Amino acid sequence: MTQTLGPLLQFQPPTTPALVVRRAALEANLATMQAACSAAGVGLRAHGKMHKCTRLGRRQIELGAVGLCCQTVGEAQGYAAAGVGDLLITSPPAPWGAEKIAAIAASGVDIAVVADDADQIARLGAAATAAGTSVGLVVDIDLGTHRTGVPPEEVAALARLAGQTPGLVYRGIQAYLGHLQHLADLEARRAACQVTRQRLGALIGELSEAGLKPELVTGGGTGTYVEDLASGVFNEIQAGSYVFMDVEYEDCGAIDGQAWPFQQALFIATSVVSARHKTHVVCDSGLKAHSVDGPPARVVAGAPHGTRWRPMGDEHSALFHPAMMGAVKAAGSDFAGGITAADEDASIAWPADAPKVGDVVWLQPGHIDPTINLYDALIVVDEDGSSEIWPVDARRSSR
Ligand code: PLP
Ligand code: MN
Repeated sequence: MTQTLGPLLQFQPPTTPALVVRRAALEANLATMQAACSAAGVGLRAHGKMHKCTRLGRRQIELGAVGLCCQTVGEAQGYAAAGVGDLLITSPPAPWGAEKIAAIAASGVDIAVVADDADQIARLGAAATAAGTSVGLVVDIDLGTHRTGVPPEEVAALARLAGQTPGLVYRGIQAYLGHLQHLADLEARRAACQVTRQRLGALIGELSEAGLKPELVTGGGTGTYVEDLASGVFNEIQAGSYVFMDVEYEDCGAIDGQAWPFQQALFIATSVVSARHKTHVVCDSGLKAHSVDGPPARVVAGAPHGTRWRPMGDEHSALFHPAMMGAVKAAGSDFAGGITAADEDASIAWPADAPKVGDVVWLQPGHIDPTINLYDALIVVDEDGSSEIWPVDARRSSR
C-alpha cells in the first residue's frame, strides 16, 4: 500500500540523516495485524528485533500482542528492563547467554528460549537451577531455512530432554520459515506454506502421541502471515516488518496477491549537501545510515518521481535525476566517465526540478531491521506536525 506522506513533508528533522515515523501509518499497521491475529484466534508475538524500541514494543502489547520475540540476549535484557513480561528468544543463545537468560527469568519475566542442541539445553537448565528459577524451552525446527533448528525427526528427543531437565519447562516448538518470506513467486510461496502446514500438523500429532504435545507452536512472518494465520497449526506468529514495511517487502508483495494492508510508516530523511554535478546531487546519508543488503532505498518525496538513490561512501549517497540517466549512459559505459562527460557537455542543462542544497529528501529504507539498528532513535511525527523521540533502546550494547 502506498500513500502520500502528508504532514511528514512539512516536518523539519532537527538533524539528518534521521529515521522518521508517521504515527498514523504505524498505528494503522499495528491495528491491522492485531485484528487479523485476533480474528484468527492466533497470538501475535511481534518480533522486537525489527525495531529494538521498547516504547514501540510496549505499544504492541497494549494493543493485544501476547508478548515479544527477541533474536538476541541483549534485546531480551532491554525489553525485560522496560517491563515487558513475556518474551521468547527465537535464536539459540551462545553459551555466555545462559546465565543472563536465567537472570531475566529470576527477575520475574516469563521467558522462553529456543534450542536445537542437547548441550544448549543442559546449559540453560543448569543456569536456571543455579539462579533458583525456571526458563521455558522451545525446540527449534528447520523446515527449509537451514539456519537453526533440528529436522522434524529429531524434535521428540530434544523435547523429552527439555521436559526432564531441571530448571526448564518444555513449552513447544518453533518453525520459522525464513526462506519463504520474500519468495517473489506467490504461488510457490503459498504452496510451500501448505506443505509446511502438513508437515507440522503430522509432527504435532506424533509429539502428542508421545506425551510431548507442544503447548506453543510459533513461527511465521510478514511474508507468510495470511497463510500462517489460516494454517490451523501455529498458535502464535512472530511477524516483525509489518510495523513499518520496507522496499524489500513492498516489492515481493503480499502472499494472497492483494495489495499489502500495511502502509509505509518509516522513512529516512536526508539532506542534500552538495550539487556540483549535472547528473546527481549528494546527500548526507551513506552506508552508516542505510543497510545495503537489500534493495536500494526508494525516493518517496522531495525529489522528482523516478529519482534513484545510490550509496556513495560511508557518509554520502547520490540521487540521480531521472532525466539525466540517459545523458550518463550516452556518454559512455563507464558510469564515472559518464558523469564527467555530462558535466563537460555545455548542451546538458541542470534539470530545474532537481533537489537543491539544503533540501530534505525522504527515502523508504531497503531493509528496515538492520537500518534501524544504525540509529539511536525514531522520531515519531503526528498529523499535526508535533513529534516525539522514541529511543532504539533495546539495541543496548549488542547489536
Ligand atoms: N522470526 C524470526 C526467527 C526471524 O528471524 C524474523 C525475521 O527475520 C521474524 C520472525 C520476523 O519476520 P518479518 O520481519 O519478515 O515479519
Ligand atoms: Mn528483515
